[in-house]
Amino acid sequence: MLLAEGAVFSLEPPRGARPQGAHKEKRLCGPLAFTAPFTPILRAKGLTFCCEWIIIEGVMKEGVFHVEHPAEREDSVGKIVAVANQKGGVGKTTTAVNLSACVAALGKKVLIVDLDPQGNSTTGYGISKRSVEMGTYEVLIGEAPARDAIRKTNFRTDVLPSNTRLAGAGLELIDLPGRESRLRKGLAPIQQDYDYIFIDCPPSLDLLTLNGLCACDSVLIPIQCEYYALEGLSELISTLKTVRRKYNSYLDIEGVVFTMYAGRYNLTLQVVEQVQKYFGDKVYQTTIPRTIRISEAPSYGQPINYYEPKGKGSEAYMDLAIEFVKRNRPRDPQPHRRRSRTAKTEASAKTPQKA
Ligand code: ADP
Ligand code: MG
Repeated sequence: MLLAEGAVFSLEPPRGARPQGAHKEKRLCGPLAFTAPFTPILRAKGLTFCCEWIIIEGVMKEGVFHVEHPAEREDSVGKIVAVANQKGGVGKTTTAVNLSACVAALGKKVLIVDLDPQGNSTTGYGISKRSVEMGTYEVLIGEAPARDAIRKTNFRTDVLPSNTRLAGAGLELIDLPGRESRLRKGLAPIQQDYDYIFIDCPPSLDLLTLNGLCACDSVLIPIQCEYYALEGLSELISTLKTVRRKYNSYLDIEGVVFTMYAGRYNLTLQVVEQVQKYFGDKVYQTTIPRTIRISEAPSYGQPINYYEPKGKGSEAYMDLAIEFVKRNRPRDPQPHRRRSRTAKTEASAKTPQKA
């Protein structure tokens, strides 16, 4: 695999070498060709490449760096993130589609689950709903294993697609055993195949969304900065509390992301302030601007980083993906803590012991 177009990377200097001009962080536009002084270093080092915090290894062929898929070397994380907000039109689907594609572009193994009967994330990935014989509905009802229903795409992300039958699932689920945890059970066998699984929830707090919330480790909440943005947020929060108490005690808030953001308006700033007061550092630094290209991309069946790789929308979702992966990186072991413990041990060893 080539290093994904749009990925942010920085070149790692060899140990002991002084960083040079080219060591700065860059965004990749097209296949990467190395030039001196990096080529000899990378050859000598077996080609270690630093993509933000992710060390990617690979081989150089004819001037292009071919990256090994990180999943071939590491165990997958298998974190499930539900993109939820019961308000419609706030950018859940847009965020689920584009964030998943951008996280995949960073070398992660990603699945998106379309839990909305409208199937917009299915079509957003270029899959016609009519072609979907097995999808989220069949997995929920227990008619198909997720592995058989998952579709590969040309965008590095796999899709568990939705079809119109999903619209009836809400009612059908009522009579089924474990009606709120059927998605969780359905996804369990394939969870470890992926680093991240995003669930695009419908705009409601019904049994479908409840399945999404019971299946996930965390919820990502897109908020559109408009007058009614805060309305319904308290309802969502109380639903999350109930789900945590009754069904899924591990449920966490992944973050809040502002979509269709226009920073210069007073109203936007007021909404941002209110949301920040409540969610604190759960609010993402990256905001998604309103752009025509973002709204056009689904009609071409492409995520924004493929539809317009060098545009503002692509840049914003790529930044969001980087922030997302950074927040989720495993905590580094903290050498200073170990050192301080050693220092303390040494100090206490030196302290004369009272008899
Ligand atoms: P939801 O899934 O929450 O109902 P969508 O993601 O479908 O919301 O977005 C609602 C509408 O807003 C869609 O027509 C979509 O194309 C448009 N939209 C979403 N985000 C943006 C954006 N950043 N810029 C322009 N249009 C957007
Ligand atoms: Mg939607």
